[in-house]
Amino acid sequence: MKKNIYFILLMLLIASASQAQLKIVTTIPDLKSIAESIGGDRVDVFSIATGYQNPHFVDPKPSYILKLSKADVFITVGLDLEIGWVPALLNSARNQKIQKGGEGYIDASTNIPLLQIPSSVNRGEGDIHIFGNPHFWLDPLNGKIIAQTITNTLSRLDPEHQGQFHANLKKFNEAVDAKIKVWETTLARFKNTKVIAYHNEWPYFEQRFGLKIVDFLEPKPGIPPTPSQLAKIIGTMKREQIKIIINSPYFTAESADLVARNAGGKVVTFATSVGATPEIKTYIDLFDYNVGQLVSALQ
Ligand SMILES: [Zn+2]
Repeated sequence: MKKNIYFILLMLLIASASQAQLKIVTTIPDLKSIAESIGGDRVDVFSIATGYQNPHFVDPKPSYILKLSKADVFITVGLDLEIGWVPALLNSARNQKIQKGGEGYIDASTNIPLLQIPSSVNRGEGDIHIFGNPHFWLDPLNGKIIAQTITNTLSRLDPEHQGQFHANLKKFNEAVDAKIKVWETTLARFKNTKVIAYHNEWPYFEQRFGLKIVDFLEPKPGIPPTPSQLAKIIGTMKREQIKIIINSPYFTAESADLVARNAGGKVVTFATSVGATPEIKTYIDLFDYNVGQLVSALQ
């Protein structure tokens, strides 16, 4: 009788262990959305940054350290996008599994065809894109590469459910492929439209959807707009008949508004991440929103 009870307890223990979800912490909500698409009910995902925060600059909080200390998986954009806040958090979390090189550490930039890789690494002039442009999730095809990378790690950590992860990956890829056709068709008539952006975070979007980003309000990524840079942009916009300035939710509208007023253009705020506005709930919604913003601005 006693033996039976032990046996039942043991079986319950094994069952609950195999039911346990993988605890995932991501730096940005886009990675959370993709991880949830792949992991489904096998994962519990928390994103440190919100969708309306500048992912280069996030204030570390003790609650993030607690989350990281208990995480099975950590997903970072990489390329030093989060250099200002992730290393300190990982250090304080003291969780070997999710340190760089650990079994649960995922660098989302793995296998991404990077744009704007500089010929030399130089932080001297304040540039924060020193390993290539890190805003690669803004091309939905790169979302598929990120999804594959996440699928590989989840399958390794929870092999019992790898069939489910691969099925979810297939579903995710099909959803992206179907939507890309719609977005490309919608934007086809605006091909080669010249625009100005605040921060250099759109080269992947530009490449996918055929915009031409001519210049930026920031003289260098991470360096706030200067009067001389704004004057230069006003001249460029007038000369080249550019009507659109793409802003991001975390930059004040002041500089963009000033340029728009003086150059006769308008400011369009794009979403850079899931959750930038309440209606952007998933990675696919992000592109629906930005394509919509662009179409209504250009019409
Ligand atoms: Zn950037």
